[in-house]
Amino acid sequence: MKKIMFIILDGLGDRPCQVLGGKTPLEAAETPNLDRLASNGICGSVRILDKAPESDEGHLALFGYNLKKHYPGRGPIEATGVGLTLQRGDVAFRANMATVDGNLTVVDRRAGRVDTTEPFARKANGMELEGVKFLLKAGNAHRMALVMRGQGLSDKISNTDPHEEGKKVLKAEPLDGSPEAALTARLLNDFLERTYKMFDSMPENEQRRKANQLPANYILTRGAGYYKPIPPFKNKYKLKACCITGGGLYLGLGKLMGMTPVSAPGATGDAKTDVQSKLTSAIKALKQYDFAFVHIKGTDLFGHDGDPAGKKRFIEKVDRSLPVLGGFDGIVVVTADHSTPCEAKNHSADPVPIVIAGGPEKDAVRKFGESACALGKIGRIEAKDVMPLVLRMAG
Ligand code: ZN
Ligand code: ZN
Repeated sequence: MKKIMFIILDGLGDRPCQVLGGKTPLEAAETPNLDRLASNGICGSVRILDKAPESDEGHLALFGYNLKKHYPGRGPIEATGVGLTLQRGDVAFRANMATVDGNLTVVDRRAGRVDTTEPFARKANGMELEGVKFLLKAGNAHRMALVMRGQGLSDKISNTDPHEEGKKVLKAEPLDGSPEAALTARLLNDFLERTYKMFDSMPENEQRRKANQLPANYILTRGAGYYKPIPPFKNKYKLKACCITGGGLYLGLGKLMGMTPVSAPGATGDAKTDVQSKLTSAIKALKQYDFAFVHIKGTDLFGHDGDPAGKKRFIEKVDRSLPVLGGFDGIVVVTADHSTPCEAKNHSADPVPIVIAGGPEKDAVRKFGESACALGKIGRIEAKDVMPLVLRMAG
């Protein structure tokens, strides 16, 4: 059986853009190497979900997970991504450190772009209220993850992040009538109030005020999710898998599926990322592993910015990195977790192109692009059909 490199260009799919002469960024880009993969494989068009997917949903769907059964919510994925090890029954949240004034009005949702929330997370981590333990861990910059661990908790909890500056922080509310949701909301509100008092007077914040910086004094939470393990990728497909990601959500996804994280120097999770380094790390890792998931984020960011020219240039940058795959004799899959059309500046349900190269079958498609791939041998498929097809191509 051949080894498999599965490259996800986040939000790659797009719609025709006027500034690109009616082509999509992928179609307008000079991509001799992606085109070579198309010539050397089979192409198609994947419908990820019947709604615009979030990135975590799109990935899990592509890897063959049934979201209704196995989607844990964003909180547990982010928490896993920052390095927390979750237990069944934990309720996890995405969190970020903000600045509030004395009336709990949000002055800055990112706490004056604080570099790190490390000292704050350390101070509050492990607090216990009525037998429920709070685990708080710093992510990048203002980002954090919060986990509540204990008996009888629920993830039916509203967000406390008002998503807007100048508004008061929201109270966590139970979203159903269960005693579990009521308990979870009450304890979370208690925790957020206590940590506010604790953080506001920390020496780090005294220093920030002296330096004319906003204090980092309030945790805003969202994306509550109840953690239960999902079937490991290895058991599903009998493949030993690793992941090469820029971190955060994608690292969390890989870990939740039981993939081993492999580092790549210069992998940043934004448009400056060193794509070549990621691919080189993947090739090296595939000596030991059967499957490498490589995540590249930049394409999505340009889609959200509504910048077709930037997206096109980033795709060309990815393409220029592909020759390092020359020595790789396995299956190369390139696809996306959803479309992020520049005109929508957001995710959409539009299908995404896919190429599966290096297997025994080829088709007539010579150019990797949305329209060209739709005419390929794979045709239109659903996300759940991708992995079975990739396995067949790998023999
Ligand atoms: Zn995405
Ligand atoms: Zn996005």
